[in-house]
Amino acid sequence: MQRAALFGGTFNPVHFGHLRVAEEVREGFGLDTVYFIPAANPPHKEEKGLLPAADRYEMLAAATADNPAFSVSDAELRRRGRSYTIDTVDQFFSASGRSSQCYLVMGMDAFAEIDTWKSYLALFDRIEMIVISRPEPGRQTGWIERISEVIAGRVSPQYAYDPERRGFFHPDKCAVYPFEVTPLDISATRIRSLVAEGGSIRYLVPDAAAAYLYKKGLYL
Ligand code: ATP
Repeated sequence: MQRAALFGGTFNPVHFGHLRVAEEVREGFGLDTVYFIPAANPPHKEEKGLLPAADRYEMLAAATADNPAFSVSDAELRRRGRSYTIDTVDQFFSASGRSSQCYLVMGMDAFAEIDTWKSYLALFDRIEMIVISRPEPGRQTGWIERISEVIAGRVSPQYAYDPERRGFFHPDKCAVYPFEVTPLDISATRIRSLVAEGGSIRYLVPDAAAAYLYKKGLYL
């Protein structure tokens, strides 16, 4: 059975925070493929400063070309209108069939706002989720507790954490797995500012993606 993960985001631009998350998830969950899915018209991100989806896709393709376990999907680029995760998940399952084991990957910052996503409750009926830790300066409370609060308050109080299987389980809904990754406090926002200020983005962004970005004069 194919084992895969769907990793969505704006990737504006892709950086080593994203790539390391994907690598640790791939290894930790024994996956064959991690699909990076750039959002064409994300409902959440401000349009200002968002590069055309084709450029964000090309940078991802350049950054992941040397890894056979990484694949970049144009699923959201080919759809019209807003890019909703629920539609992408449905599209993936109708293309691959239920025979593949598939997870949806997101950072804690994204998960904390999941109740603003279209048909978010239905997502928990469709696909298992992996929620990644992300450095948050100043945050004191444990992040498993925070995931627990989000799940209990906004999805269902019937979810319970099982420390042996390291996940939240529900009698009818799909599991949610908190997954701790190496903390890399890198954000695309910071990279865009660095480029605009003429600062170095070396070792924050893969060279192949940086070369594309400079060649096209992006984020200036
Ligand atoms: P921006 O700064 O523009 O908001 P971003 O760096 O958060 O961008 P996204 O494309 O929004 O990047 O991220 C896609 C997904 O990757 C999200 O689920 C986000 O939580 C996660 N992610 C991004 N950077 C990291 C990181 N450094 N560590 C862990 N998860 C990350």
